[in-house]
Amino acid sequence: MASGDMPYDGRFAGDPLSVLAGVFGHPGFRGRQDEVVRHVAAGGSGLVLMPTGGGKSLCYQVPALCRPGVGVVVSPLIALMEDQVAALRQQGVAAAALHSDLPEGEARRVLHDLHDGTLKLLYVSPERLLLDGMLARLDELPVALFAVDEAHCVSQWGHHFRPEYRGLGVLSQRFPRTPRLALTATADPRTVEDIRLQLGLADAPVFRGGFDRPNIRIEAAPRESERAQLRAFLKEHAGVPGAGMVYCGSRARTEATAEWLRGDGHDALAFHAGMDAEAKKAAHRRFARGDAVVMCATIAFGMGIDRPDVRWVVHLDLPRSPESWYQEIGRAGRDGLPARALLLYGAGDMALARQRIEESPAGPEQKRIERQRLDAMIAIAEAATCRRALLLRCFGEEVPAEACGACDICLAPPRVFDGTVAAQKLLSAVYRTGQRFGAVHVVDVLRGKLTEKVAQFGHDRLPTFGVGKDRPDSFWRSVARQLVARGALDVAVDSHGELLLTDAARPILKGAEPVMLREEVGRPAGPKPRGATPAAAGDPLFERLREWRRAEAQAQGVPAYVIFQDRTLAEIAAARPRTLDQLGAISGVGASKLQRYGAAVLRLLSE
Ligand code: ADP
Ligand code: ZN
Repeated sequence: MASGDMPYDGRFAGDPLSVLAGVFGHPGFRGRQDEVVRHVAAGGSGLVLMPTGGGKSLCYQVPALCRPGVGVVVSPLIALMEDQVAALRQQGVAAAALHSDLPEGEARRVLHDLHDGTLKLLYVSPERLLLDGMLARLDELPVALFAVDEAHCVSQWGHHFRPEYRGLGVLSQRFPRTPRLALTATADPRTVEDIRLQLGLADAPVFRGGFDRPNIRIEAAPRESERAQLRAFLKEHAGVPGAGMVYCGSRARTEATAEWLRGDGHDALAFHAGMDAEAKKAAHRRFARGDAVVMCATIAFGMGIDRPDVRWVVHLDLPRSPESWYQEIGRAGRDGLPARALLLYGAGDMALARQRIEESPAGPEQKRIERQRLDAMIAIAEAATCRRALLLRCFGEEVPAEACGACDICLAPPRVFDGTVAAQKLLSAVYRTGQRFGAVHVVDVLRGKLTEKVAQFGHDRLPTFGVGKDRPDSFWRSVARQLVARGALDVAVDSHGELLLTDAARPILKGAEPVMLREEVGRPAGPKPRGATPAAAGDPLFERLREWRRAEAQAQGVPAYVIFQDRTLAEIAAARPRTLDQLGAISGVGASKLQRYGAAVLRLLSE
């Protein structure tokens, strides 16, 4: 692909709104994009905090096209760079990427275009940018701006620290008059301060976008029977175009889950950091190409996933913090169409995560923060009030008191009851059986079941034997989980999951502390949630457009969504434009795409 392929001719240069409309085909900015773009186009630097899918790319792409010179974008992943470049070229923007995987000849051509002044956006890996020769080249050229994407990679506090990012601090000294824009989806205050410090942005404004993603419906459920739950969830999405993701807590689980899903008739792939580079690349490509795949992955998969039509994200294990969870579920529904996130969790997860923190080599301060994050995550999982509100509060956002309408709690509020007596019964059963048994046995004792184990240990003679007969097993399991969640019980993780009392159990046993519990509701039953499918799915015209797009993408060797996103195709199918002008008025159809594909699309529509 030649970078000079339909070069951006500067027709729209200068004015952000005409660049947005002319090049990208969008009628208006979203959220704080407008503010950021104007600030940077006028020469300002800053830090942008927006959720995944919030529209960070346009924050630097538009000002780069408004200003003279090349926009230099630092990006940590080659796949991410390549997808962005492919998308920009489709829009007629002369863009290129420079990284270690590029064949020598191509790299030379990119540098040539850079010196020529024809290149408008250059994506570059941090190590490549910091080579002395590279910075010296840029000294000689007009640079429109520097954008540092995934800027949290600069901070050791985050989970994605990249030592090469540290060196980017040099940009503020070497190019003091060039705007620098750092962008991240991480909003954790310490990471944010660290980014500002490291990148010399301490005096620059921070643009914090709204973190709410109302199109993602969020749900959480205790993990009762993982595969049955996953199967039921997938069934609700049968026939819905787009991809799904299953996040797993371990490498082995990604492979086992993918294999099981394949046996169940799904096109499932596994991805984790332990796979060899080729296998990772192949999985990434299949996903990026726009196939209807289910990706079973560890958190190693995600950064740089631009695919807009991920329809759902399931977590099989408890994430370690609301921030990580939010970032992962944020990969769903970037196109703004309805999407879903489901979290499955168990008491063992909570205990295991707690233990991992205690055993980690981190210092006491770091451990305290990790503990707080985990507790916030557990609180969301065991929530009796709006999950979205709890989540957004972690990002410092106040949320209106009314129901969000898009979380399981708001859609079907659970009943809360005084569970003090139930909690006491369970805690005392744990105590009387010697804190040597897991939840299954403790529940058997409460329910008065004369199992072999109960007989063996003489637990049928305990005063607590059978005191919980009036409630089903699931009730007592839920009580146990909620007591683990509030820290009154611990689960011994390295042996057999024995329940152990903690100090927090004492006031409850003594009756000095009331315990409110949540009645288990189970996920709201029924078919697909309202609007969980893009409205156009099943519309034959929409399907024909998708088929045309698939062939086109294959012929050009680019991901399907860089040609047109589902959202744009759906709008085209609904509006049925008859002229190029009408087609060009649809969001996502810029001048270049109109020129490339306008005739083909109109022909298809008239057939
Ligand atoms: P981020 O990098 O913040 O995760 P992106 O820049 O990839 O998000 O944008 C997410 C999606 O939103 C993309 O599909 C993009 O085309 C779309 N988008 C962003 N800004 C606008 C806008 N102003 N109008 C219409 N669509 C937009
Ligand atoms: Zn809610």
